[in-house]
Amino acid sequence: MHRVRLSFGGALLLLGACAQLPPVDTGTGTGAALSGCSTETASISFDFEGAPPSRCTIEGEREFSVLVSPEHAPPINPSPWYAFRYQANGSANVVVHLRYLAAKHRYRPKWQSKTHMKVLDASLRDDGRTATLVLPPGEAVVSGQELIGAKEYSALMMRLDRSAAVTRETLGRSHGGRPIEALRIGKQTAPRLVILLGRQHPPEVSGAIAMEHFLETLVALADAGKFDAQDLQIMAVPLLNPDGVARGHWRANLGGEDLNRDWGTFAQPETRAVAQWLDRLPAQVRPVAMVDFHSTARNLFYVQGDEASADQERFLARWLGGNEHLIAGYPFAIERRNANPGTGTAKNWFHATHGIPAYTYEVGDETDRQAIAQAASALATSLVDALPLSGLR
Ligand SMILES: [Zn+2]
Repeated sequence: MHRVRLSFGGALLLLGACAQLPPVDTGTGTGAALSGCSTETASISFDFEGAPPSRCTIEGEREFSVLVSPEHAPPINPSPWYAFRYQANGSANVVVHLRYLAAKHRYRPKWQSKTHMKVLDASLRDDGRTATLVLPPGEAVVSGQELIGAKEYSALMMRLDRSAAVTRETLGRSHGGRPIEALRIGKQTAPRLVILLGRQHPPEVSGAIAMEHFLETLVALADAGKFDAQDLQIMAVPLLNPDGVARGHWRANLGGEDLNRDWGTFAQPETRAVAQWLDRLPAQVRPVAMVDFHSTARNLFYVQGDEASADQERFLARWLGGNEHLIAGYPFAIERRNANPGTGTAKNWFHATHGIPAYTYEVGDETDRQAIAQAASALATSLVDALPLSGLR
């Protein structure tokens, strides 16, 4: 076990103060059974934001099984998210078996009580399809990654909005009626625009931690006059899939779609909100780069392949090229991938439509949180200097 740094300004999901889903979310999909399991001395529940309504089985007085299942039928990306709260009187441990449907154990359990947070080890069986956790008595939340949801994003936006360089805007509403919120650093009329996206995929929390620190650094640079807010604006949408995050989805929005396959089609309200915002830009404003934050097994950047123009190659060389091992604790790879036509990823759509470098910033699931923060800060600083001087191809 090792301690992890609390992200998002140390925001804690406080036990007992469990956020309820807002009434606008009428709910579909996995059903509304939020009951959980309880015995004389112990209980398991899924009654907070970020917890999927999972099936729970009593195996013994202090032993439970939780079925970890996706929000729609497979095939689905193997991002088996889980989150539950437990309470146990007495002094004996509680045993919880995570039984995975259509996936294997991926996320190391993050255990959080009122005062502590730690990463647990699970013992795996059935080729990773069952993970057994031994939990100390008391009360705590266990989740696949740190719980970073609407409340934490709201706190982040409020914190950054204290800067005179920052304005906030609501771009639209999700399927479930939740706001799609954006934060702008710089002036609305600044001709060069960088777009930052986050949390298209709900469980990809390590990418969210990177984005938090990336944004904090950009705001600090703007405050310090390190870039010209009349010339450069950064538009960030940190929580593009608020319904999926609130409901503990593995991948999809409330419409059952992978948002990162919807760019170009814009059949989903979340992606459409961003596209419509781009359509309304003042004529002189041109996107110059797009970065989309995600998580995977290791740190890497997906960038354009040989489809990249000379200007785009220059940007890559200035921002990332040769730096793969320079940030302590945060080695990363650069993976060149040309667009497969019609895949509908933000990376490919921004590159094809706006002729700009458009990268996926992938952070390893279990990369050290401090290293994620330091790397994001360093990369935000170097981004500003590496940007193309105009949005023209
Ligand atoms: Zn992703």
